[in-house]
Amino acid sequence: QAKSSGKSQYKTFSAEMFEDLVVKSRLKAALKDALKNEQISVYFQPIFAIDDASIVGFEALCRWNHPEYGSIRPDIFIALAEETGDVVEIDRFVLEKVVKKLHKLEQTGARLFGTVNFCPLDFEQTDLIDHMAGLLERYPLTLNRLEVEVTERSMINESGNANIPLILQNMEKLGVKIAIDDFGTGYSALSYVKHYRSFISKIKVDRVFVRDIQHDTADVALVNSILSMAKGLGMTVVAEGIETEKQRDVLSSLGCQFGQGYLISKPLPIDEFCDLLNVQVDLARQTH
Ligand code: C2E
Ligand code: MG
Ligand code: MG
Ligand code: MG
Repeated sequence: QAKSSGKSQYKTFSAEMFEDLVVKSRLKAALKDALKNEQISVYFQPIFAIDDASIVGFEALCRWNHPEYGSIRPDIFIALAEETGDVVEIDRFVLEKVVKKLHKLEQTGARLFGTVNFCPLDFEQTDLIDHMAGLLERYPLTLNRLEVEVTERSMINESGNANIPLILQNMEKLGVKIAIDDFGTGYSALSYVKHYRSFISKIKVDRVFVRDIQHDTADVALVNSILSMAKGLGMTVVAEGIETEKQRDVLSSLGCQFGQGYLISKPLPIDEFCDLLNVQVDLARQTH
């Protein structure tokens, strides 16, 4: 009785449910088999030019389709996978999907970049560079088509990972770009930007600065200063979480070049993302 009502209580897996320690440990145990049983899938969310909404790239985001709880967002299960260590295998699974798709897209003449999210544990794997080099050997890409998104948690060596500079240098040699994710939400953003500036090519402005940008002058000032900092350092900027035309207009007026958000598209299954790309290619053909 308690079991069945417990299940129907939650339509989708919520943060509240995540607090349930029993659920949490059950999920942690189930993670091991989630990949094996093909319950983890990869979605692509378009990254677009602010001014004409053309798709210039995508971010790969994973989903866990749990037989009992339905679709579980990565916000919830990636943290668990970091605790169990399964995140490494998950991130390599996502990476392989992205590299294969970019390789294929390139052969069709598309000029897009694709990004994957890495966490500190990924950077602690001593075979990380060998693994990436092996993948890129099997599926060669033009330089700079693949990007790794990192948050400051990875850069700041909370785990005492002294290899970060060497890893970033080796990624650069492989033609892999580094983007700073969720910029502005950490504690010492500017010091690591200074430290790693030569490896960072892109800054992703967290959506907390975008949400109220049409009426909050503080957000305008903050985004403005991130934009001018990025310009001065030769980095590009992607604004995250753009949901409305108004937000896009403000960002455009500030000179922000790239964006991502529900205004253009939610994260999509890979095939649907490719359909969207084809629509764009067809439109471009018709107007030229
Ligand atoms: P993130 O890397 O900052 O990804 C952006 C998140 O914002 C995604 O949530 C995306 O669905 C959401 N988003 C995009 N546009 C909008 C919008 O217009 N409005 C709102 N409200 N949200 C928007 P998602 O997919 O739930 O991912 C959450 C976080 O989980 C990601 O944040 C990333 O840190 C992590 N994550 C996702 N996939 C992976 C992965 O494969 N590996 C690792 N290590 N982490 C991942
Ligand atoms: Mg990201
Ligand atoms: Mg982000
Ligand atoms: Mg985030």
